Amino acid sequence: MIRLNNVTHQYVGMKEPIVRVDTLSLKKGERVALLGPSGSGKSTLLHMISGIFLPTTGEVTVDGYHFRQMKESERDAFRAQSVGYIFQDFHLVPSLTAKANIELVGTSTRLSEWFQRVGLEGKEQRYPHELSRGEAQRVAMIRAFIHEPSLVLADEPTGSLDRKTGENMMHLLHELTKEEKVTFLCVTHDESFAETFPRLLQMTPHEKGGMTVQ
Ligand code: ADP
Ligand code: MG
Repeated sequence: MIRLNNVTHQYVGMKEPIVRVDTLSLKKGERVALLGPSGSGKSTLLHMISGIFLPTTGEVTVDGYHFRQMKESERDAFRAQSVGYIFQDFHLVPSLTAKANIELVGTSTRLSEWFQRVGLEGKEQRYPHELSRGEAQRVAMIRAFIHEPSLVLADEPTGSLDRKTGENMMHLLHELTKEEKVTFLCVTHDESFAETFPRLLQMTPHEKGGMTVQ
């Protein structure tokens, strides 16, 4: 369901590509960890897979959508419908309650069920500053799942949580992605978290320069 072919990505001002992926395939429903040092292009890869931007060269196809053949607005619409994104620092809007933050991306009759499911029952009207970091990340998780995406991308979702909270979060993410049958690609710095995934990818140097994924 996700396929990259002959992909390179080079940011404006760079002399050579930072990321080169000759081929990469992820099956529908696969749960995959992506490990790699800081600056190796992990976030860049997630951006290309979500269609936030096109690679400099090459093809990215997700669920049969060929990003290069789509307008930016079409890629945005695809992402709004099919992708859930979870960030290290939650990206919640401070002036909106937990519930309103989620309703920015979609409504669901299952909203109160979702709050229960992640252990946030009764906290729908809290503002982000009234939540612990772990609770804020669980709100961000509901926001990623509420529109029933086929793909969830997480960019170091435990990176700003303490060990125990991070473990709980990873456990919950595995549970939800299995139950919702979504494809799950998760960037992590932590090898012990990475080992909880059935498939592990690693950023490594490409023979032509830049980093690739293996
Ligand atoms: P990672 O997520 O693995 O830490 P990134 O994908 O964020 O790595 O970044 C890869 C490299 O590209 C880094 O050297 C970073 O500084 C650079 N980079 C990231 N975003 C931009 C950008 N918008 N413009 C120029 N360079 C960027
Ligand atoms: Mg990153």
